[in-house]
Amino acid sequence: MEDKAEATTSLVDKGLLQTADLYEYILETSVYPFESEFLKELRAITANHPWAFMGTAPDAGQLMAMLLMLVNAKKTIEIGVFTGYSLLLTALTIPDDGKITAIDLDRSSYEIGLPVIEKAGVKHKINFIESEALPVLDKLLEDPDNHGTFDFAFVDADKDNYANYHEKLLVLLKPSGIVIYDNTLWGGTVAMPEGSVPADRLAMWNPTLEFNKYLAADTRVQISQVVLGDGITICRRL
Ligand code: SAH
Ligand code: CA
Repeated sequence: MEDKAEATTSLVDKGLLQTADLYEYILETSVYPFESEFLKELRAITANHPWAFMGTAPDAGQLMAMLLMLVNAKKTIEIGVFTGYSLLLTALTIPDDGKITAIDLDRSSYEIGLPVIEKAGVKHKINFIESEALPVLDKLLEDPDNHGTFDFAFVDADKDNYANYHEKLLVLLKPSGIVIYDNTLWGGTVAMPEGSVPADRLAMWNPTLEFNKYLAADTRVQISQVVLGDGITICRRL
């Protein structure tokens, strides 16, 4: 019988993404040819931002668009907008009468991408709220008419609140609705011993580990941990 390390090695050999060349190949072959010109423009505008690394990766965005289509998403929530890559992607994907409640602490980053969102003709689908996300979710929950009505949520903000967001989003989501959590592999540090975790990753390292454990134990959802971008966890409300 093979031991655990050998079993893991053979899984790795089966083909997880291992090189920058392979990633480039995927992007050039299957992602960039289908990325909207507006999304490319927003990515270009964001490229010079000191926090550009926070923008959603185009391949992760492509999967998100696929999921939005699969659930016929019309009513969605986004927590963590930054300059708006995932927001614009959502707005371009949902129908013309679709609505996105988009929440971020900081309106100024949203405003960087706003001209592109306006040019793309999708601003009317977006309700941007400059706020901490939790009170906005609480406000939505106060109205029972909102319960079980959202098709889709994307969570890409403060990792130490993900479990709090999850509890509230499960009430807001429809059965079979989807929530995606971003950065759940936290630069790959989730598999490192604490002593090896780079200083800039430490603060959210433990919250990420705790959240992944909590989701894996949650029988109210079906999950899939995807190795795209910084790791995304797709969660379907049962
Ligand atoms: N989805 C974005 C990236 C988001 S980056 C994209 O595709 O580009 C994370 C964002 O979360 C930042 O803009 C930050 O201001 C926001 N954020 C962090 N903590 C928050 C909180 N408690 N409530 C709302 N937004 C928060
Ligand atoms: Ca992210």
